[in-house]
Amino acid sequence: PIDPNFDTTRERVEGEEAAAASGEDAEEAAVAVWGPVDPPEKLGIHGTHVAVDYDLCIADGTCLEDCPVDVFTWVDTPGHPESDRKVEPTFEDQCIDCMLCVDVCPVDAIDVDAS
Ligand code: SF4
Repeated sequence: PIDPNFDTTRERVEGEEAAAASGEDAEEAAVAVWGPVDPPEKLGIHGTHVAVDYDLCIADGTCLEDCPVDVFTWVDTPGHPESDRKVEPTFEDQCIDCMLCVDVCPVDAIDVDAS
């Protein structure tokens, strides 16, 4: 499962390195990226209030379909060993802390800091 303490155990990566971990065509990362990253195989944790471990995500997509406020968008990640697309918490500032995404994720790749 995702490490809920990622914002203290990992370092944030920025600039081109973060963009490279956020899909082939991204010019900048839409949300914070917490490393380490080594694209295309290792992409880190994306987001802060709503955080998705890209290295665990298998692109199940239930979180994206079920989120009541449409926090997530798809990002293409060709070459990643788990799946060739991921859910980016693009609109994490809209989150209402319902925890539905955390509950439905089959690989426990999502952490929502509702405290
Ligand atoms: Fe959406 Fe609820 Fe997950 Fe927040 S906790 S991202 S509102 S499903």
